[in-house]
Amino acid sequence: MFKSALLKLTGLYLLILLTVSMFFSFNIYRITTQEVQNRLRRQADFLVTKSVRTLKIDPFQKQRIREEVSSQQYVIGELVYVNILVLIVGGIGSYLLAKRTLRSIESAHTAQLRFAADASHELRTPLTAMQTETEVTLRDKSLTLEDAKQQLRSNLEELHHLDDLSTNLLQLARGQDIISFANIKVSDVINNAGDKVKHAARNQQIKLELTPIPDIYISGDKNKLTRMLVILLDNAIKYSPKNSVISISTTHDHNSVGIHIADQGIGISGDALPYIFDRFYRADSTRSKVNTVGYGLGLPIAEQIVKSHSGRIYVESAIGKGSTFTVRLPTQKSKS
Ligand code: ADP
Repeated sequence: MFKSALLKLTGLYLLILLTVSMFFSFNIYRITTQEVQNRLRRQADFLVTKSVRTLKIDPFQKQRIREEVSSQQYVIGELVYVNILVLIVGGIGSYLLAKRTLRSIESAHTAQLRFAADASHELRTPLTAMQTETEVTLRDKSLTLEDAKQQLRSNLEELHHLDDLSTNLLQLARGQDIISFANIKVSDVINNAGDKVKHAARNQQIKLELTPIPDIYISGDKNKLTRMLVILLDNAIKYSPKNSVISISTTHDHNSVGIHIADQGIGISGDALPYIFDRFYRADSTRSKVNTVGYGLGLPIAEQIVKSHSGRIYVESAIGKGSTFTVRLPTQKSKS
């Protein structure tokens, strides 16, 4: 598909180039030959009148015509030569330009195909599991009511996961859609996010420690930023042992504020660190932990939200010691 598009675009660029080149060639030919004709005609007239009537006109006229024809041929030859050069150089240039134009479109297209393939794979796995389990249950002749309920509970759990997955996929696919920027207080966003995860933390007997946050304002979308912090806090809870502490703190300078979420969890290996923001990536240490549910979409969504606020997100981590995620966002001078 991209090969034929590349050829079409090359052809189009070349056609434009040749049209311009032919237009100029035609005009150069017309102007120069006209000028030569005029000059020769004037010269011939002059010589005819000068050499008095005794001389015949013929020799001058013949010479003039010869000069005219030879100059026309010369100009045509040069212009054909130049146009062939334009065709060769322009052809190569057009091909390279078309290739360059299509490169970014091609990589976006490939990324989209990969995303669709990964997404369908993730959707298919729980669906296949549900289908097999249901079929086995239906075939069971000694099925009790309790077995059936158990099956329904298991299906419901998978449906919840599928619901989460489709919400995340939708969010990623929508990308940077409508962001309603407003002047917001960093502490409001942190408190909102803290409220949303406090039950999950309590269930895991994890302590959320919030250091006092100074009055700092940023321009951003409160809901989206809250969602981003919830993703980071959820992960911190998910990948931390019971009775550990997760601390949320801030640092700031003239232009930016850093929000730090530090856990005492399983940590991320140096090999996995470069990939954790990739879609569908889950570190091996995470996959082997049976009780952590996830699809590897949380961090890509968090990164997307941070980037749409002109911010940065990065992580420092050590296996067995814990991870600290930092989100750095540009600040507003004051409340307005
Ligand atoms: P998931 O749904 O798997 O949590 P994420 O995109 O949120 O997907 O995270 C990607 C991977 O990064 C996780 O699978 C996990 O391996 C790693 N990770 C993220 N946050 C943490 C953390 N706080 N501690 C340890 N590992 C983490």
